[in-house]
Amino acid sequence: MLETELKNIEQEVKACTKCPLHLSRTNTVFGDGNINAEIFLIGEGPGFDEDKTGNVFVGKSGKLLDKILEACNFSRSKHVYIGNILKCRPPGNRKPTPEEQIACLPYLEKQIELIDPKIIITLGATALQGLLGENLKITRERGIWKLWMNRLVMPTFHPSALLRNPNLKKDTWEDFKKVISKYRELVDSEHYCKNF
Ligand code: SF4
Repeated sequence: MLETELKNIEQEVKACTKCPLHLSRTNTVFGDGNINAEIFLIGEGPGFDEDKTGNVFVGKSGKLLDKILEACNFSRSKHVYIGNILKCRPPGNRKPTPEEQIACLPYLEKQIELIDPKIIITLGATALQGLLGENLKITRERGIWKLWMNRLVMPTFHPSALLRNPNLKKDTWEDFKKVISKYRELVDSEHYCKNF
């Protein structure tokens, strides 16, 4: 049932022409992971590799995200579901316009509603602002729990920011440690992590 509902939205996304990004996309990128996961990660939108493959968080950022998840003893296939604010790639990876974000957000909201996670993690400024408000600054808000539709949200940096500036890794790990603690509190008190 849940799988069918998500597949139906994915089909809608594939046919979507609600914003100009449909003109330049190669593939839509809907999302991936465990549809029963309690952690929902939100990124910005597809990049070059994602647009080519139709898969979420592949390429260098995706590999780094996998390493971060592994450090937490979380896996894509078991503990998390990953989606994006935008389902189509902005040309040249430019920042999406507010209009594009507004047009696409209902798909993400529906995904979250169906998957019903206990914890949301926004990756980077666009995900934070797209979900919680365009005036929020990632450098000020990261690491602080927020509420969105009665769900807990942890804002942290996007893996691509860590690739550009490795100094951000320390803060990002602090944010993920808070997620591990909350996961133990709300989902699995026995969740093992050798690093924390
Ligand atoms: Fe539709 Fe979202 Fe793609 Fe725009 S980015 S065409 S709203 S699926």
